[in-house]
Amino acid sequence: MIRFDNVSKRYENGHEALRQLNLTIAEGEMCFLTGHSGAGKSTLLKLIMRMEKASQGQVFINGQNLSRMGSGQVPYLRRNIGVVFQNHQLLFDRSVFDNVALPLMIEGTDPSDIGRRVRAALDKVGLLKKEKLNPIMLSGGEQQRVGIARAVVNKPPILLADEPTGNLDPQLSSEIMNLFEQFNEVGVTVLIASHDLSLIARMGHRVLTLSEGQLVTDGGML
Ligand code: ADP
Ligand code: ADP
Repeated sequence: MIRFDNVSKRYENGHEALRQLNLTIAEGEMCFLTGHSGAGKSTLLKLIMRMEKASQGQVFINGQNLSRMGSGQVPYLRRNIGVVFQNHQLLFDRSVFDNVALPLMIEGTDPSDIGRRVRAALDKVGLLKKEKLNPIMLSGGEQQRVGIARAVVNKPPILLADEPTGNLDPQLSSEIMNLFEQFNEVGVTVLIASHDLSLIARMGHRVLTLSEGQLVTDGGML
């Protein structure tokens, strides 16, 4: 599902954020990506979304070579990838419902399907009763759940998260990770960048560790 073949990423200022990375994540797998700040975690996620391009090597998503992908194809790639950010990037000028509906509106989903899809997503994150509220009224954990609902509302086969529990206390962090696990259990391939080593260790999934742009460990537990 996700394959990096000898991938390096050098930014325009000359900084090499990823170095000769080889990596395969199978369909339906759940993995954590860890490493110090600056290790290259966000860069790796950006390459998967084609927000950045590899300087060398090849990234394949679902068999598609992203180096060969024209910019016109990128929106179609992104429909297959749900993304959850640390600061969730919700819009506070509209309701929870409208935040979650946004990807469907952009895709041009049939309006008669939107209500059903949005409620299915809110139901999965336990926020069905909050659809009319403005997300500013919600707690940090709830806001992050809205971010997750928005990421999965169009049922992408791949779910990426960049420090999704960075601002949450341990109890809420573990609830959020359990939600990711539930999506993984229905077949979604999940990759989560996180610093939270104790939480990651408890979850017991594959852990990829980056250090200075190189993959230094790839294994079961920490
Ligand atoms: P992490 O997510 O592990 O903290 P990043 O992928 O954000 O790491 O960054 C890896 C390295 O690349 C860091 O040294 C960072 O400063 C550098 N970097 C990230 N984005 C850019 C950019 N747009 N231009 C130049 N350097 C960058
Ligand atoms: P419908 O497809 O009828 O609208 P749901 O949205 O509730 O119904 O989803 C149907 C099934 O698909 C559920 O079991 C759900 O958990 C699963 N599913 C598969 N992939 C995803 C995904 N990326 N996000 C959310 N649900 C998913």
